[in-house]
Amino acid sequence: MPNVIEREIKIRILSPPLRLLRESLRAVAVYIGAEEQLDYYFDNEHRQLTSSDRALRLRISNARTELTYKGPKENSLVKSRLEATTAVSDAKAIVTILESIGYRPILKVRKFRENYSYEGATVSLDEVEGLGEFLEIEQNDINEEELLTLTNKLITVLNIKGAREKRSYAELMASMASDGLSFE
Ligand code: ATP
Ligand code: CA
Ligand code: CA
Repeated sequence: MPNVIEREIKIRILSPPLRLLRESLRAVAVYIGAEEQLDYYFDNEHRQLTSSDRALRLRISNARTELTYKGPKENSLVKSRLEATTAVSDAKAIVTILESIGYRPILKVRKFRENYSYEGATVSLDEVEGLGEFLEIEQNDINEEELLTLTNKLITVLNIKGAREKRSYAELMASMASDGLSFE
């Protein structure tokens, strides 16, 4: 995939239950497919990427393995950032390469994702292990206002009750991990 500016909105779903949401999504959007994704986020000992809001991710799913770089988020209404992804034919080799130059997996996120196409946008229904259920809506060719409008429309059509989540799954996972360190 060529370099793109990723533009997406993430919503934590409170209701309706996933089973019903799936049904109503299939009525208004085109189902593309589903996959289990295992994401490993890499960083060096100085946490150079995390501290500058960048990410290096190895994603292993049923169908393929890919390596993605994400640049810092632009200061804006929706999450927008440079994203570059390439297919990886040998996951072990890429891990060896990264570890040899000081980059190690620091966080793992596992989820089941269903993808749909809705009015030119990609809609993902995510069940994230340990974190819950989320809906992401991504469309890289439209401006922020348009993406917000499209998102509001979809939320109304699907009757979703939820909350906008600005943090990434990795950030949510990291905060859970540190929460887990205190025993009270
Ligand atoms: P995609 O949209 O590419 O499929 P995703 O939906 O699985 O990814 P997101 O929550 O959208 O995951 O984004 C991944 C994010 O994780 C990036 O925003 C990246 O900057 C962030 N990230 C990676 N490692 C860390 C970390 N250790 N602490 C906080 N954030 C991190
Ligand atoms: Ca995305
Ligand atoms: Ca995302």
